[in-house]
Amino acid sequence: MIQASELYRLQEIDLQVQQKHKRLEEIAAQLADNKALTEAQTQVEADQQVLTPLQAKVRKLEGEIQTNTAKVRDTDETLYSGRVKNPKELQDMQHEIQSLKKRNQELEDTLLETMLSVDEADTALKASTAKLDTLRAQFELANQSLIDEQKRLKSEGSALLKSREQLLPTIEAETLRIYNNLRRTKNNHAVAVLNNQSCSVCRVQQNMNVIQAVRKGEGLTYCSSCGRILIYRSG
Ligand SMILES: [Zn+2]
Repeated sequence: MIQASELYRLQEIDLQVQQKHKRLEEIAAQLADNKALTEAQTQVEADQQVLTPLQAKVRKLEGEIQTNTAKVRDTDETLYSGRVKNPKELQDMQHEIQSLKKRNQELEDTLLETMLSVDEADTALKASTAKLDTLRAQFELANQSLIDEQKRLKSEGSALLKSREQLLPTIEAETLRIYNNLRRTKNNHAVAVLNNQSCSVCRVQQNMNVIQAVRKGEGLTYCSSCGRILIYRSG
């Protein structure tokens, strides 16, 4: 007697193991692929590198303007204090005030421009940071479900391998050898079922000799067309 149902069960297990293995490989590849996240991170860093020097420039300009304003105030006070009598000196002081005020005007123009650039850079940074946060959340969420799936597949896989081990001793060594050889050449489908006198895989109708041999199940019978082990399954 060939162990038709055992052989069929073995093939079912092997196909499932193979399917799970394939999915596990896909998951591993997906987990390793975080290109979008890396790009978003790089963008945030680039935006930050634009903003930081602009903010420093604003502080520097504000400081310079403050210093000049203080100088104008001090010179103004001296000018109107009456302490300085020399007309040449007084004129120099007035010139200095004018030149400081002119300089501050220029600095304030630059400050305004720089503050607009800061606003722009800040908006860009906020946008790229928001994008990174979203991508990170999505990635973690996706990873979580992938990790859960990975765990489930691994435990299902090891359960299948355990049933395979229990099944193997019930199948004759020679049958097993033939099964394993056929698996390699028949795209992992070594076993086909006789279905209404036809092979369930290649669909070719079998002659009466084959049909009778399969039904008797005394030895291995092969599909007359595709060469797979043909088994008879009642019900
Ligand atoms: Zn066939």
